[in-house]
Amino acid sequence: MPVPFADLNLQYQTIKNEIDAAIAGVIRDSAFIRGAYVDAFERDFAKAVDARHCVSCANGTDALYLAMKALKVKPGDEVITTAHSWISTSAMITHAGATVVFCDTDGETFTIDPAAIEAAITPRTVGIIPVHLYGQPADMDAIMAIANKHKLWVIEDCAQAHLARYKGRQVGTFGSIATYSFYPGKNLGAMGDAGAVITNDAQLAEYMTMLARHGGLVKHQHPIEGINSRLDGLQAAILSAKLPHLPAWTEARQAAAKVYDAGLNQIEDVVVPQTAAGRSHVYHLYTIRHPRRDALAAHLNAHGVQTAIHYPTALPLLPAYERFKHRAEQFPNAVRDQGQILSLPMFAEITGAQQDEVIRLVRDFR
Ligand SMILES: *Cc1c(COP(=O)(O)O)cnc(C)c1O
Repeated sequence: MPVPFADLNLQYQTIKNEIDAAIAGVIRDSAFIRGAYVDAFERDFAKAVDARHCVSCANGTDALYLAMKALKVKPGDEVITTAHSWISTSAMITHAGATVVFCDTDGETFTIDPAAIEAAITPRTVGIIPVHLYGQPADMDAIMAIANKHKLWVIEDCAQAHLARYKGRQVGTFGSIATYSFYPGKNLGAMGDAGAVITNDAQLAEYMTMLARHGGLVKHQHPIEGINSRLDGLQAAILSAKLPHLPAWTEARQAAAKVYDAGLNQIEDVVVPQTAAGRSHVYHLYTIRHPRRDALAAHLNAHGVQTAIHYPTALPLLPAYERFKHRAEQFPNAVRDQGQILSLPMFAEITGAQQDEVIRLVRDFR
């Protein structure tokens, strides 16, 4: 039985009427850029994630850029982030004009180690960007305590963590700004690129709105120089149609993770994802560790089970960061994990039979 890594068409089929109607409405109204559909999604999404303001934008990468520009990073500033993430997080620190400083992960949760943050702070540090990687919140109490002590801002990268909670509170509500991606494969995905920032600060929201819309709120008035980073009407309408389903999809992912946990837990050499106390994991990815990862992946792939590696190289060791002359020993956990992590098929509609097949193949692996 082939098991895909994810199945976007299957999700579409379950809500086809709602998606088709949403798309037809935008075309009927020619509401392609800005307009009522975009406004409605911004309102709905802010409410769904307990934020006062949502500013939509073209993708989750731009969201990080907008957030840092709004917090006025400047050359010489240092921004701390995790060694284990998608490259958007660190690349936007550079593009916003600051210097990226990487910290190792905690060895258990794949999220940034607060002790490493404390050790990385210098007089030039201005902010911290924790990533709630794979859908598990980073240790926000510890991170906010460090930020408050050193007067640093925090931007939460929530691209993989829609609706995740830390001690009962939604991710994205701890820092000054949080960023979201609605890339098609994310837990809430558009049918193209899409992203957003959220904040409770009206001034930051207004500044990011201007920045994303050519530097102004009113046509031909440009208080600042901006960029063009708009969410288009079609994507907004599609996202609004999908948003009411997100809680049920999240629960389905969590239930599927429980099935994997129970089936994989006792298998020698397999380390199932560890969720720290007080954190709710939304399983954008279900990522195990295995000392012979490449052979296990080949075994699964040979039997029709798709897997993926998120991500094959720890960020500090990518050629893009050669200028820093990082050494692997500086990031022991992230570097160990880059050789051991394997993401298994995970999507809300995955069946018990598909999961049994994955579990059986992992158990049979020698
Ligand atoms: C997906 C992702 C992004 C970037 O989002 P795009 O919409 O693809 O630009 C940023 N950070 C993390 C952690 C992501 O997973």
